[in-house]
Amino acid sequence: MTSNASKPIRTRFAPSPTGFLHLGGARTALFSWAFARHHQGTFVLRIEDTDVERSTPEAVQAILDSMDWLGMQPDEGPFYQMQRMDRYREVVAQMLAAGTAYHCYSSPEEVEAMREAARARGDKPRYDGTWRPEPGKTLPAIPEGRKPVVRFKNPQDGATSWNDMVKGTISFDNTELDDLIIARPDGTPTYNFCVVVDDWDMGITHVLRGDDHVNNTPRQINILRALGADLPEYGHVPMILGPDGEKLSKRHGAVNVMEYDNEGYLPEAMINYLARLGWSHGDDELFTREQLVSWFDTKHLSKSASQWDPKKLNWVNAHYIKQMDNAELAERVATRVATRGGHPEKIDLPGVMGLLKDRAETLEQLADGAMLFCAEFKAAPAELAEQHLTAPAREALADFAQRAQDADWTRESLSALIKAVLADRGLKMPQLAIPLRVAVTGQTQTPAVDAVLALLGKDTVLKRLAAI
Ligand code: GLU
Repeated sequence: MTSNASKPIRTRFAPSPTGFLHLGGARTALFSWAFARHHQGTFVLRIEDTDVERSTPEAVQAILDSMDWLGMQPDEGPFYQMQRMDRYREVVAQMLAAGTAYHCYSSPEEVEAMREAARARGDKPRYDGTWRPEPGKTLPAIPEGRKPVVRFKNPQDGATSWNDMVKGTISFDNTELDDLIIARPDGTPTYNFCVVVDDWDMGITHVLRGDDHVNNTPRQINILRALGADLPEYGHVPMILGPDGEKLSKRHGAVNVMEYDNEGYLPEAMINYLARLGWSHGDDELFTREQLVSWFDTKHLSKSASQWDPKKLNWVNAHYIKQMDNAELAERVATRVATRGGHPEKIDLPGVMGLLKDRAETLEQLADGAMLFCAEFKAAPAELAEQHLTAPAREALADFAQRAQDADWTRESLSALIKAVLADRGLKMPQLAIPLRVAVTGQTQTPAVDAVLALLGKDTVLKRLAAI
């Protein structure tokens, strides 16, 4: 057996398409992706669709869409296990021929009885090896008409250990491991066996996956050894907990990755946040995809479970929104504005983004804010008008409107104009700014009034002022 140390790195993400891609899966994928990228290796995507009852094409598509959205395109694949059945059968036949696997004719009821007997003796429930061939052992007569399963001949002594990239040394006594069924009576291969053949055939050097798979690893290692395959390195990452310390679930909010797209999170922010959830680079909280790739290592994967923190995700998202180019932001927000019935093409959407982005946590909030500039105008409700559009306020507004006819329509000159009207009329800022907002936007709360006027444009502003 050769070592993997000198081989080019090959990692894989191997989701079961039984539902959307959830946050935990996305994070595992990200670690495998970043590890491959860091080492200029290959990132393989493998769809583990052998559970035909629960796998759906929609789930496959949802996984592909999520990977695409997050920018984690595989270098190879997607490979589909259902398309590799002949290969699994071939390896089963090889193992039978080599004597590393054997036919077992015990019925499910008999196996259950063996387990029961072991339990009664105070042992671990297990298959008792009735059909396991040993030198000098006579096997029972084959029951008529019964189709056998194929079992792996697991070593019966010693231990199976590996140096886990995340958890350190993990060891299982081989006596704890049953002779695993690798093919069912109808010949279909079982889960652990397909994983083994795939990892072997795909030349996977490093397996990073959730720690719910720790118990599968010694079984997989033993089968790989029986096949004479090189062993990958394994790293098992702890799960993600909700803010209350319970396993992260729907109760804590969205767990479907694409839901975060809907809610207006940027993939850049999701990548940064997910990477930081269970991995660290000193005290760095904010880093780009490129930095992640150049810094990523398995040494700094956390041994303990990490906690989902929606506030922190919002903070990270706000950071990426703030530092994004206005035109780029506008592009990402335009459809959201259109969905709200706004006409993004009719306004200076990049300008609007520039005004709003410092205070927005999501693209949805930006789209809401942009509607001020492109929703159909509704004049202020009567009571608001009554309260703010008083006689002196109307006089100040008329003065402003008159002087605005010749104004250079920029935020700076509008600001200067507002100040000039205030000074000439002996008013304080709110005495003009609030009536202006009410008259021009129909509401009292808006971003800075000079900026709002500048972005609404001269015609609109003068028309609305004239209509009060
Ligand atoms: N298909 C498995 C899952 O979705 C992952 C198997 C593996 O990574 O080895 O949990």
